[in-house]
Amino acid sequence: MSGLPGRSSPVQVVVRVRPLLVHEQKQQASLALGDDGLIRVAHGDVSFQSKYDATLGPSRSQQDVFDVTRGCVDSVAEGYNSSIFAYGPTGTGKTHTMLGSRVEADGKGGIIPRALESLFSRLDQMELDAPGSTTAAISFIEIYNEKIHDLLQPFKLEAKQAFKGMVPRKADLQLRSAKNGAVLIPGLQIIKVQDVKSAMELVMRGSQHRAVRHTEMNHQSSRSHSILQISLERKLPGQVVGTAPGLLKSKLNFIDLAGSERWSDHGDMTHARISEMTSINQSLSNLVTVVARLTEGKPTHIPYRDSKLTHILQDSLGGNCLTIFIATVSPAVEAYEETVSTLKFADRAR
Ligand code: ADP
Ligand code: MG
Repeated sequence: MSGLPGRSSPVQVVVRVRPLLVHEQKQQASLALGDDGLIRVAHGDVSFQSKYDATLGPSRSQQDVFDVTRGCVDSVAEGYNSSIFAYGPTGTGKTHTMLGSRVEADGKGGIIPRALESLFSRLDQMELDAPGSTTAAISFIEIYNEKIHDLLQPFKLEAKQAFKGMVPRKADLQLRSAKNGAVLIPGLQIIKVQDVKSAMELVMRGSQHRAVRHTEMNHQSSRSHSILQISLERKLPGQVVGTAPGLLKSKLNFIDLAGSERWSDHGDMTHARISEMTSINQSLSNLVTVVARLTEGKPTHIPYRDSKLTHILQDSLGGNCLTIFIATVSPAVEAYEETVSTLKFADRAR
């Protein structure tokens, strides 16, 4: 099973280059893309080049990007777990790629609304063949400073504390490992959804909560990871009468990662800012290590538990799971260093 034609690796790496933004128009682009996944960055006498499973240039549409992930999305209805990551510096198009800029406008929606459309049309078909056989549910969390927050129920506790005159703070959720190896988050809202419309309503609600939370807590969304998880259960037909029906469970994760720019020390950093920065660097570098080990085919020493992000995704990375990494970069010449470091990361993941 493969997300992209012609590759059997469980991890596929795609690079998306966004167009130059208005304020960048006068800048000379420093990137060249080949048809075969080749990308070259040249600046002065320094150049870097590498090959990826696919490269998508500035003129490629949201539909083109979704098409690259379609195999991964479809496989979830067949019972496979999949994860789709957006990795790259702040401002390079991670959220645009995952969610889309103006989701309600035709053609603007990113991978998430398209994947939900595709998934629910498959589920609808399965329901026609065997009514009552499928269940879909959504959870949406954010990891900030190694703390897990539920984006689908974020304000109940905060309102109560604010009322008592306390600093509004939401208790973070804890991770537990079940005996069978499954990772559980007690107290997390996992909300059943019947159709694409109600699923998208939750996605939008969670995204709005994320934005409000960041304003209240005075930090930027670019400093947290978000994980939207769609879990499916499908009753399998053909069971012996009198026995419990077989249940096929699978998950699809969309991960919008914290900005990968080097969170360097500007000298005037507060303690909170340093711990934020350290936490991002550690979790992204642990993610690289996990993914690199998976691609090397060394499934024994994978440090899933070294960060919340990889621990939560433990059962959705490796094994029979499909992973697509979308590295997003800017073509602007001033972004040259960040672009090269993003491409090098993407290279390590392959
Ligand atoms: P990130 O989530 O990586 O910080 P955003 O997705 O917010 O970046 O994108 C930054 C800006 O660039 C937004 O205004 C977004 O609309 C625009 N943008 C990003 N990618 C594209 C693209 N492929 N086409 C057009 N505009 C894009
Ligand atoms: Mg973003």
